Amino acid sequence: MSGVIQLVYFAVAVVFILGLKAMSSPVTARKGIVWAGYAMIAATLVTFYTPGMQNYGLMITAIVLGGGVAWWSGRVVKMTDMPQMVAIYNGMGGGAAAAIAALEFARGGSHGAIATTLAVLGALIGSVAFSGSCIAFAKLQGIMTKAWRLPAQNMVNLGLAALAVVLGLVIVVVETPPSAIVIAFFIVALALGAILTSPIGGADMPVVISLLNAFTGLAVGLEGYVLGNPALIVAGIVVGASGTLLTQLMAKAMNRPIRNIIFTPITGEAAGGGEAIEGSMKELSALDAASVMRYAGKVIIVPGYGMAVAGAQHKVWEMAQLLEEGGVEVVFAIHPVAGRMPGHMNVLLAEAGVPYDKIFDLEEINADFPQADVALVIGANDVVNPVARTDKSSPIYGMPILNVDMAHNVIVVKRGQGAGYSGIENALFYKDNCRMLYGSAQQIIGEVITHVKALEV
Ligand code: NAP
Repeated sequence: MSGVIQLVYFAVAVVFILGLKAMSSPVTARKGIVWAGYAMIAATLVTFYTPGMQNYGLMITAIVLGGGVAWWSGRVVKMTDMPQMVAIYNGMGGGAAAAIAALEFARGGSHGAIATTLAVLGALIGSVAFSGSCIAFAKLQGIMTKAWRLPAQNMVNLGLAALAVVLGLVIVVVETPPSAIVIAFFIVALALGAILTSPIGGADMPVVISLLNAFTGLAVGLEGYVLGNPALIVAGIVVGASGTLLTQLMAKAMNRPIRNIIFTPITGEAAGGGEAIEGSMKELSALDAASVMRYAGKVIIVPGYGMAVAGAQHKVWEMAQLLEEGGVEVVFAIHPVAGRMPGHMNVLLAEAGVPYDKIFDLEEINADFPQADVALVIGANDVVNPVARTDKSSPIYGMPILNVDMAHNVIVVKRGQGAGYSGIENALFYKDNCRMLYGSAQQIIGEVITHVKALEV
């Protein structure tokens, strides 16, 4: 019986991996999510047939409660609130892995040195992921507004990590460790996660969440070994590996080494330095913006965080369709870190119904800007700031940007003088070929649509 169960777990793991693979392309992403979901349901059902399993009432209650909350929140949560939802669910995974270890420690008895070491490691990593993710959630949800940094922050982190390792060693070495040691170990591990994450600024949070996600995967994989569950091992390792890769890719796209994000975070104050920018910002009206785009040959739309905040994606796509009906070629250019989470803009545009063949990544589209009549920047700032190419003293120097300044005309939609996430001035706004279209994205694009329609008559 247990051989059959192991085989089913293995099949479940294979389907889960195929589901993840399918998510790598926008065309098959939805199918991938469904496959991974079925695999998880199958893994949960198989648990009922695992020998020695008796707590059916508890299991069903947990499944109904957890599934119900996830189903409800998945339906009601707003697209712009996705990062905090990912953060809190990720934290639950880490917490669950730590809880498995806590249960094994409470049961006592000898699991063998290797299994106990892995359980301790999983408990440490899972606890850090849990408390860190809770802090990330609190920051992104606006519950915790201040970046909270201790005087000797890095020393405190190091001290807590060392203490957790020592307590963990005691748990490994002593066959039935006193409960005070186990409790102290978990308190220290949880404190480490919270203190490590507290000083990190809200906008760096997606990278941190991705890192904590990798931690959760690792913790789950380790506890999978302790429980002898291959599905948990495979799923955990896959999540751990993909989380690590994603973290690296995001850090690279932001040109911020991961160690800087964690140990010397941007605290939210405007970043200093940078060359003085010459020129002035020139405003343009919604009517003029409509005329310039209506009579253009090619328009490249660059969405950013502001489009997400304003929820303007449907209006933007409506405007693009109107322009296309008038014979204008319209495409979308997406920077890898536009918005506040990986794929943020792709998700919003897909939600609005923009076909995938109109959406281009940075490497695919950057060479096209010099041929574009108009680059329309909607609520993006840092990802189009040319100082990233030119100013070595700028905090975003070296970050690859979308070359919108090379288009014949640039129109920037934003509400006022607000800076982007990095807090620095944008040299693009002062260029001769750039005009500012002030207003909240949804409302101002609505006005542009009205004028484009009037121009058709
Ligand atoms: P951004 O640099 O944060 O700029 C957003 C712009 O949107 C601001 O200039 C703001 O100006 C404008 N805005 C805000 N609300 C608006 C509204 N309702 N209507 C119109 N405009 C509005 O955005 P981004 O260019 O997308 O760059 C993303 C930044 O986040 C990068 O620095 C990136 O490194 C960082 N980041 C991204 C990720 C990720 O995974 N995507 C992760 C971590 C960090 P006003 O206030 O004047 O309107």
